[in-house]
Amino acid sequence: MATTPRNRRATSRQAPSRTSTRTVRARPDNTGVVTEPEPRADKVPFDIDDVLARVREAVRDFADAAMFALAARGHDSLFEQLVACILSIRTLDEVSLPAALALLQRASTPEALASMRPDDLDALIRPVTFHDAKAHQLHAIAVRTRNEFGGKLPCDAQVLQTFKGVGPKCAHLALGIACGHEAISVDIHVHRVTNRWGYVKANSPEATMAALETQLPRRYWVELNRLLVPFGKHVCTGSRPRCSTCPVLESCRQVGVTNPR
Ligand code: SF4
Repeated sequence: MATTPRNRRATSRQAPSRTSTRTVRARPDNTGVVTEPEPRADKVPFDIDDVLARVREAVRDFADAAMFALAARGHDSLFEQLVACILSIRTLDEVSLPAALALLQRASTPEALASMRPDDLDALIRPVTFHDAKAHQLHAIAVRTRNEFGGKLPCDAQVLQTFKGVGPKCAHLALGIACGHEAISVDIHVHRVTNRWGYVKANSPEATMAALETQLPRRYWVELNRLLVPFGKHVCTGSRPRCSTCPVLESCRQVGVTNPR
């Protein structure tokens, strides 16, 4: 028998737990569609457990995304994580991580940051995109946390999103890392990769998050961001993804990919 991706997987690995039965559910607001990938003769059935295990192995030697790297260095409070996430918006990790470290080494609590002048705060984060606006946002968050919440942010997504500059991506990621909440954070990498897989079909990060909340097993809700940020930076890149050496090529439907390496 000729060796195909399908029978190669069947003989060398445990059978996937998920069948290829396709389910499509239109969302009430029509912003996203949840879909399991279409069966394809040249692809094995899509098994999220297997795919994420392969991605986990592939990113083992890559640097952690900025917020996970900060948590590993002890900056794991909700306030610190929220500060770091705001700094990371529209900014490369290589830039936002040193800026976050510089700021948190000077002021890691709401009280300390609230006592800084916004201009001094701005000077510490100057390499970051929109540093001026972010300096004022961070200062306002610190002041309100000190005055309204006794210096400790509550682990509450709705409260976090009342702060200017904080959307679902930052609120969810900070809550997942600092408070152990099961929450999915979808940045541009998570959005791009899960849509290329064919695991979701959505035209914005917000719609992708809603779609993932419907079908991604909860045990992966926090880990997904940690895995797919480095995977999206180094393997499933924005232009010319490295499909020929990708560990999930057999499963991935390569939706919209026209010029792979
Ligand atoms: S096969 Fe290509 S499109 Fe699919 S995850 Fe890998 S790099 Fe991305």
